[in-house]
Amino acid sequence: MPGVFPPFRPAPSSFPPDRTVLPVLTAQTALFLDFDGTLADIATEPELVVVPDDLIGLLEQLSIRLDGALALVSGRKITDLDGFLSPLRLPTAAEHGAQQRMPSGDMLSLAAPPLHEVIRVAQALASQHTGLRVEIKSAAVAVHYRHAPELETFCLQALAEIVKITPGVELMQGKCVFEVKPSGISKGSAMQLFMSAPPFSGRLPLFAGDDTTDEAGFAAVQAMGGAAIKVGEGISLAVYRCASPAQLRQWLRSSLQALDKPEAAEVTAHQRQVDEAAS
Ligand SMILES: [Mg+2]
Repeated sequence: MPGVFPPFRPAPSSFPPDRTVLPVLTAQTALFLDFDGTLADIATEPELVVVPDDLIGLLEQLSIRLDGALALVSGRKITDLDGFLSPLRLPTAAEHGAQQRMPSGDMLSLAAPPLHEVIRVAQALASQHTGLRVEIKSAAVAVHYRHAPELETFCLQALAEIVKITPGVELMQGKCVFEVKPSGISKGSAMQLFMSAPPFSGRLPLFAGDDTTDEAGFAAVQAMGGAAIKVGEGISLAVYRCASPAQLRQWLRSSLQALDKPEAAEVTAHQRQVDEAAS
């Protein structure tokens, strides 16, 4: 079926055993994080996601320790992400890279492909079947079927048909969602763009995500010599694995403490020298 990404299922022999001891975050890491299912638990409706109490402060402190080399990489609209993490404004690849806020604050936005027919088909599906929900983004259209999983194949067929005759788009499947998005962009290409300029360039990329839509990102960071962490279950290219967003956040907290330690050690050493000089 041209233009369709089926659920990502690499051959079992193509991936190494999962490592559950997560990699060490250093001051030279470029950290990329998906949002839903990675930093925050997935909710029954996208807008009902609960942002854990300490998440915003944690991301802010990590960004400072990494000299700004921390970015969100998500399929969401940038307004959603900014709303959840307000007042924090991180470099962000939204809509799988169709919208990208660079470290300077500049927004790079792909021209949206012609989506009116896709929107018409998606809305017709949702009007005929309760349980389907259409989300219109700046350059993409998503059909959520979390409340009607029995309609997965039906949605796939209908959207594949319209994608076939719509230029410049492709169909992607995530967790209980089909998305018609611009061809050729992915979380992988979004992170490659971030890695081409400071403060990301010259660092080792590390990306954590939970979904099949993150696999292109896992492949990209590992091809750049970095590391990928798959959150939750499912076959993945990612070398590392953690069980849940809660566990990933715990790793981020521990990583922040570890990043703070060298600084604390330096301060202690400096104070010791001052004390020795004074005695
Ligand atoms: Mg996700």
